[in-house]
Amino acid sequence: MKALRLLSTLAVVGVAAVLLLPMRGAAFTTNSGFLGLGQRDFRVFDNFTAPTANDNVTPDPNFPGSTGATLAIWKACVEWGSRLHGNGDGDPHQVGGLGSGGANFDACFQGEATGVGGTDDNIHSEISGSLGGVYAFTEVPGTDGWRIRYYQTWTWSDGPSDLLQPGEVDLQGVATHEYGHALGLDHTPIAGSTMQGSIIGNGVAQRSIEADDVNGLVFVYGTAAATKPVITGVAIAPSVLTITGSNFAATGNEVWFTRATPSATVALGDPIKFIGVLSTAGGTQITLSVPPLAGPGDVFVKVPGTAGSTLSNAWPADVAAGAACVAPVNVCQSAPNSVGLGAHMGFSGGTYLSQNNLTLRCSGLRPDVNAFFLAGQAATLAPFGNGFLCVASPSFQLPVRTVDFLGNVAYPLNTQALPPGLVIQGGQTWYFQCVYRDVAAGGALCNASDALQTTWCP
Ligand SMILES: [Zn+2]
Repeated sequence: MKALRLLSTLAVVGVAAVLLLPMRGAAFTTNSGFLGLGQRDFRVFDNFTAPTANDNVTPDPNFPGSTGATLAIWKACVEWGSRLHGNGDGDPHQVGGLGSGGANFDACFQGEATGVGGTDDNIHSEISGSLGGVYAFTEVPGTDGWRIRYYQTWTWSDGPSDLLQPGEVDLQGVATHEYGHALGLDHTPIAGSTMQGSIIGNGVAQRSIEADDVNGLVFVYGTAAATKPVITGVAIAPSVLTITGSNFAATGNEVWFTRATPSATVALGDPIKFIGVLSTAGGTQITLSVPPLAGPGDVFVKVPGTAGSTLSNAWPADVAAGAACVAPVNVCQSAPNSVGLGAHMGFSGGTYLSQNNLTLRCSGLRPDVNAFFLAGQAATLAPFGNGFLCVASPSFQLPVRTVDFLGNVAYPLNTQALPPGLVIQGGQTWYFQCVYRDVAAGGALCNASDALQTTWCP
């Protein structure tokens, strides 16, 4: 039979490492790459040209929202996960067995990309042409990301059956091998391992990682820690997700979601994160609303910290994106001041708690004076200083800021670190108004802007 190679990396050192730097005796080798927590994401640019690469149109409940080449590659990556992906089903070659890594590493599916991306954008895609017997290659494995390309010359098959037609090459199997390179592994001489440098047959056997592959992964990322958060189930009630498992932190959890639609920015593969999430029942349950930008895919729980052991296993969740958030609007009114007709509220960012990026802004103020923003859940219109009070009691005063020389002031509203007693939750409406000194105007020596009405979303 004809042996077809699977190339490791474009770097020459990749080959040298096999010959010169065997680690742990004559077994797995590493390419000195190591993916940090910010590089767990992977995406697929589905530009595969062979009809057989996208002829699987049957959805798999363990891989919601994807079919074809994307589904095949998703399966390949989760095979390296710390524990079974859901119930482990989805691959006829290893029924109930997907998710075999056992290390502090879990890949984070982020859907489809809109292009092949750069060499560190973590995207799988086809590349035109051929290179001898090489199926595919992985570029620049390292802490800052990777890119995997599959040569167009081959008749790629998306399975899912493990019985391929003559001449077809198994995309899932080859993807499992190449993703091993992205994780920091090089070729092993151990027969039957996914990280062997050449394969005999169609690549289906490479779908399942073996003991030597697991040893290599554990060498790089460490055995899955006893403290690693674990997801064992999810329940979805349209836009509310309940996650069950263990080792969730009491406070400060992050829940990661797959992005609902490809980002317009090819380079952006980051998960949609809902931050500052509480757990209940002794760290075994989390309930939250699905963020608007999240979609079907995998969910994760990340507890505070920076180690690989702080991120849970991947669990499939067929979530529907939450409702879009209403943009903030100006309400109430301002009054003339010593520099003009009055001060007006503005903003940048938005009111998704999961994004936590709203900056309160106010313009038309007297320059170089002190000002602060007032926050409250009810609106009013009452005389105040030289103007009007728009935020009713009870209200909260945010930290004092100095107005710049143009008469503008801004305050990034960190919803995770608000003044004592001030808690902003999804579904609530909050009003913000700027109060400022204006000695030059006389009278009460102070004034206030109009108000910004904000509606908060998960
Ligand atoms: Zn290889």
